[in-house]
Amino acid sequence: MPITVAALRETAAGERRVAITPEMAKKMHARGWRVMLERDAGASAGFPDGVYADATFGSAAEVCAQADVLACVLPPQDAVFGQLRERATVVGQLRPYGADARLAAMAARGLSAFSLELLPRTTRAQAMDVLSSQAAVAGYRAMLIAAEAAPKFFPMLTTAAGTIRPSRVLVIGAGVAGLQAIATARRLGAQTEGYDVRPETREQVESLGAKFLQVGVSAAGTGGYARELSAEERAAQQQALAEHLKVFDVVVSTAAVPGRPAPKILTAAMVQGMKPGALIVDLAAESGGNCELTRPGERVEHGGVTIIGPLNLPAGAPLHASEMYARNVFNFLELLVKNDALAPDYDDELVAKSCLTRDGTAQFTG
Ligand code: NAD
Repeated sequence: MPITVAALRETAAGERRVAITPEMAKKMHARGWRVMLERDAGASAGFPDGVYADATFGSAAEVCAQADVLACVLPPQDAVFGQLRERATVVGQLRPYGADARLAAMAARGLSAFSLELLPRTTRAQAMDVLSSQAAVAGYRAMLIAAEAAPKFFPMLTTAAGTIRPSRVLVIGAGVAGLQAIATARRLGAQTEGYDVRPETREQVESLGAKFLQVGVSAAGTGGYARELSAEERAAQQQALAEHLKVFDVVVSTAAVPGRPAPKILTAAMVQGMKPGALIVDLAAESGGNCELTRPGERVEHGGVTIIGPLNLPAGAPLHASEMYARNVFNFLELLVKNDALAPDYDDELVAKSCLTRDGTAQFTG
């Protein structure tokens, strides 16, 4: 009996991605797995049912009743866990922090659940790294939102009506999303600078043809991540940045510290010092925002400066975001399946660190 890998239509507000694309369904089929999807699961990502050559379709209840593995982009409604077969496996971005009811619902059904955001950022995990694949989409989309909302062109234009100077763009936080935002601003022709507290990002920013903004605060942490700044460091950063900010037309902020609320980097006073017509796109809005004026999901005007706090940016480019996400999921599932059966090796750190519940027993401690 082949294992059945399944996906439902995502139900989170505004979500358009799908966890299994036609290309990955084909690969799964080639492995001897059966693929089952809820009708229209991929439609909003640009994959109508007809383009899945290697899948069968049914209602959500039918899919749940037959799935050995449910792959999802974001957590489904808790009721879905009760519809799954006992001891089924769930894989996705399951947002476990502060989600006690969700964890209890999964445990009550005896499920094994793996949350891909918890994978360690090691070389071996790169092919399954949903944080990186989706952050790349978010960085690209954030810069397009900025370009669309800005009252200026990004590139320099020489026309009969005069010469337009390029916009000056600053990207705060040069991780995966920030570097993609920088690359996008450069492609659009803006005069682009990047800033991060990790010194090694200087070379990465410069390799994209952007300038590295020196602020004089360095905070490299462990595992390639930044650490949280002390109060003195934060004050020094804000003082130095406030001066620099006066020249920029667009700021895209992407700064994050794993497991912590987003660092507050841009104060109201700093925003007041910016040019009228300037624009901030705060990609950290989902985890509280890098700007203290950001309201998640909203657009705020403050003294002539616009602050946009977009949510779930990867859902705005659902076809490519799904393609990358589904590939991450497939690569992770290959870890779980041995000889055509689900057999997770809990001694493997990728399996152990991403595991929330194992046959219904809680493994996640927050
Ligand atoms: P992230 O989303 O956690 O943070 C985004 C950026 O914000 C980081 O570059 C961080 O240094 C920066 N930041 C944090 N606090 C700041 C502050 N107060 N001021 C300015 N900047 C601040 O990070 P991410 O993009 O997920 O990844 C960060 C790094 O992790 C990557 O650039 C890479 O080096 C490493 N990584 C490694 C792998 C791998 O080897 N498999 C995969 C992904 C990422």
